[in-house]
Amino acid sequence: MATHHGECFCGAVKIEVSGDPEGMGYCHCRSCRSWSGGPVNAFSLWKPDAVRVTAGSDQLAMYQKTPVSQRQYCKTCGGHVMTNHPPLGLIDVFAATIPTLDFKPGVHVNYGETVLPIKDGLPKFKDFPKEFGGSGEMASE
Ligand SMILES: [Zn+2]
Ligand SMILES: [Zn+2]
Repeated sequence: MATHHGECFCGAVKIEVSGDPEGMGYCHCRSCRSWSGGPVNAFSLWKPDAVRVTAGSDQLAMYQKTPVSQRQYCKTCGGHVMTNHPPLGLIDVFAATIPTLDFKPGVHVNYGETVLPIKDGLPKFKDFPKEFGGSGEMASE
């Protein structure tokens, strides 16, 4: 089983993910942009038992604005580590957090809010797929 190691910007918080992600892609929503300071969030989704904090759990803080997202970051450096999505039963470990992951995006979500159109031919949901509580509507590139 593949294992990937990741850490926050300063290295105080270390995590490990094992196996294969449940899905990978890009989120264009305003919340991701505002929190990350970037135009898109490259996500990889994992079952909670595939994700382990191996060091610095006392440094891992959480900010929750909505019931859907528990955004976890390092108290020391402010670096973003991952976002837990309790209603989905999945954790988004940011692709940038685990550099050895072979990032193969399969989908774009919240493309209706994009500020950085990406013409890569991948399916683009206006918001979320139906199974994730969205409209399931597609958007054009
Ligand atoms: Zn840190
Ligand atoms: Zn988002």
